[in-house]
Amino acid sequence: MRRNRLRCLKPHPPLASSAPGDLAIFLDLDGTLVPIAERPSAILIDDKLRHMLQLLHQRSGGALALISGRSIDDLDRHLKPLTLPAAGQHGLERRSASGRRTEVGSRESLGPAKQAIEALLQRHPDVLVEEKGLSLAVHYRNRPMLASWLHRSLRALVREHSRELTLQRGKRVLEVKLAGADKGEAIAAFLEEAPFRGRRAVFIGDDSTDEHGFAVVNAAHGLSVKVGAGTTVARYCLPDVAAVVDLLTAIAKGNS
Ligand SMILES: [Mg+2]
Repeated sequence: MRRNRLRCLKPHPPLASSAPGDLAIFLDLDGTLVPIAERPSAILIDDKLRHMLQLLHQRSGGALALISGRSIDDLDRHLKPLTLPAAGQHGLERRSASGRRTEVGSRESLGPAKQAIEALLQRHPDVLVEEKGLSLAVHYRNRPMLASWLHRSLRALVREHSRELTLQRGKRVLEVKLAGADKGEAIAAFLEEAPFRGRRAVFIGDDSTDEHGFAVVNAAHGLSVKVGAGTTVARYCLPDVAAVVDLLTAIAKGNS
């Protein structure tokens, strides 16, 4: 995947005047709709954001999906009572607009990796291991000095099980996940289904895990939008979470 060398080539995606009914909207959550929190459970989704997402979901005729590293159950917990079409665990699980849920891989395949990670981190209780079902996230925000040791150790672990597992890097997080899906494949699957099919795809995300999604949206002649700094294949960018929320609010209200 060829990435732009500059952190932002084209600011201001040409979206504010778009009619939501023409769009297939895909949104990452952490670092895109809400700031990244110290612990994954500590994010705050306030009523204003929940209401905006609900309005955008309605105005787009249901063509809005969350594309997250979180599990779908976790997304639902945070967005309650709102439930949206979603891809969880970087595409390993998906809930379509009709509510049908699908999963890639078998949860048991993650067992040996779980044991190995527990043994590896016995002496590092500050490193948080988050079990999501089809993936294990190792959060080292509290121990950034362990980054290179963790990268090396988890790369070696995944290499031992290269048929079943892959390693996904994120912001101060490494995820050992079942192989066979990514955010791009999840977006491609949504784009084959109603009400997303035939619309202009938009994907907004902030992290390296979103790059697969940007590539799929670029290939579909859609709008890929990277939030914040970093090399990317996305064609547009926004500076921060507040700019994303402002843009989506303008589309939802149709008041641009
Ligand atoms: Mg993110």
